Amino acid sequence: TSNDLRRKLAGIDRKGYGAYKSLAGTYKFDFFTLYIDHVQSDPFAPPSRMRVRLAREVAGFPAEYYRTRTERIALEDYLTRCFAAVVRRYSERKGTGKSGIISIDRPGQEVLERTSMVAGDRFVEARFVVGLPARGRTVLAGEAGEILLESLPEIVRHSLVFKNLDRNRLQVHIELARDQAALRRQLPEMGLVAFVADGSVLPRESGVSDLPLKGENVVPFRSPPEYTVSVNLPHRGRISGMGIPRGVTLIVGGGYHGKSTLLRAIERGVYNHIPGDGREFVITVSDAVKIRAEDGRSVVGVDISGFINNLPFGKDTRNFSTANASGSTSQAANIVEALEAGTELLLLDEDTSATNFMIRDGRMQRLVAREMEPITPFIDRVRDLLDNFNTSTILVVGGSGDYFEVADNVIMIHNYLPRDVTARAREIAYGMRGERSREVEAPLQTVRERIPLPEAFRLQSKDKVKSRGLDDIQLGRENVDLQNVEQLVDNSQTAALAAIMKYARKYIDGKTTLAQVTHKVLQDIEKEGLDVISAFMGQHPGDFALPRKYEVMAAFNRYRGLRVK
Ligand code: ADP
Ligand code: MG
Repeated sequence: TSNDLRRKLAGIDRKGYGAYKSLAGTYKFDFFTLYIDHVQSDPFAPPSRMRVRLAREVAGFPAEYYRTRTERIALEDYLTRCFAAVVRRYSERKGTGKSGIISIDRPGQEVLERTSMVAGDRFVEARFVVGLPARGRTVLAGEAGEILLESLPEIVRHSLVFKNLDRNRLQVHIELARDQAALRRQLPEMGLVAFVADGSVLPRESGVSDLPLKGENVVPFRSPPEYTVSVNLPHRGRISGMGIPRGVTLIVGGGYHGKSTLLRAIERGVYNHIPGDGREFVITVSDAVKIRAEDGRSVVGVDISGFINNLPFGKDTRNFSTANASGSTSQAANIVEALEAGTELLLLDEDTSATNFMIRDGRMQRLVAREMEPITPFIDRVRDLLDNFNTSTILVVGGSGDYFEVADNVIMIHNYLPRDVTARAREIAYGMRGERSREVEAPLQTVRERIPLPEAFRLQSKDKVKSRGLDDIQLGRENVDLQNVEQLVDNSQTAALAAIMKYARKYIDGKTTLAQVTHKVLQDIEKEGLDVISAFMGQHPGDFALPRKYEVMAAFNRYRGLRVK
């Protein structure tokens, strides 16, 4: 009980910091249970991992908040934010190192499944850390008692007990998640790949802040009449906005008029956003993948021959590997890998594409003969992707009208607002026949499914598997660079990717394809919860957030030790 904790604390006051280790264990408080899973070894080490668990009846959340996965994730997300907000009022430095710090994983603008909170059938459980207080390297038992015996019950009471929460805000959070799920579900039957609601605020505060831009200069989104659709949502009712149909869609317009901002919002639309974000109803099919050039990346055994052929020195592009891809080969590999993973929507921006991958104009075709140019530009493949893979494309191009000929829709952004210019673009395309000719002999029809080899994933026991920040994973001796995986949005997703790369080894047997391995891991997570990928399952598992299968495969694909069949 909490009295045992009190007694233990009294017994270790002023002792060496290591004496805290004796706190590990389970303590029953009057309305919850505290689990001290791991005690830090010194005041500067990562803080101690703990959990609090309340019986479901004590937490008191209505049954309708647990009915579906969507609702449960929204509830857990809300509770994590709530816990974080309340903790901030109680967390203060009391001594050396991380003394006195209490913290829980901090979600950004997206609502993601996380290990920080579990709203289960029988209990609600928060996973957090505490910096056990020290003066120098000695135990400060009084301060530790204040945190664990006084602050903690208050924090739990004000963040995990339904009757003490702001019911309205919680309800809005859950209803929004239901509406977002309903909208995403409706996209296919409406023939759409993305929806951008009227009134959405797309621009962000800055390049380093994902908060909405504020002020009178913000232009809220307004759909052009040609693309306006309206949808009926369970709570919000009828809303209207721009529906982007399946097919090839160009976003054109002058520089600095807001093209990339729109595309970026669509990229992020694979995730749900919190109330007040401005992108609440920017919803994209969940299989959308942002494609960009990524020179320097490693590529292992990808068939990029649909885009690149006849490389110098007869390098084989049906089974292409390199430790240092060029702009165009990396972009080709990114596309083929996305197809291998099963994407139905590619998102490309001229700002981050390799020019020679996107286009080869008539004059260049005349100067540099087809036989001398290894690249089949994207413009000559984009229809194949639609016809043979059922994969649509949304493409930002300000610089090349050649794309008019292959586009189904052309949307011009002017002063941040879209208008339909499809008819005019067609007129121009047919009035002024392009100088260029199509450069393909055979259509692109299939991509090869690669099978990862187990020897590539053998780790020594001393080998570390961990993540740093958003962009970096260390897997044994190799670093996996995820900087250009643009739909990876949360540090805890990256942490999950590192854990997944280790966990997935049980399915890497030399017979199972990379896509299947990924599928199996995600299935385990769906069945048993995200804790399943943790080495500490059953305790505080660490801070993980769920990545999509595309980001999981992106991590494997960038692992320089990868070997495939
Ligand atoms: P483009 O890709 O067309 O060159 P960007 O999308 O990069 O343009 O946008 C240029 C600038 O305009 C950015 O600073 C962006 O934040 C801002 N911006 C974009 N959309 C809006 C909007 N709806 N209201 C206000 N500012 C916006
Ligand atoms: Mg741009």
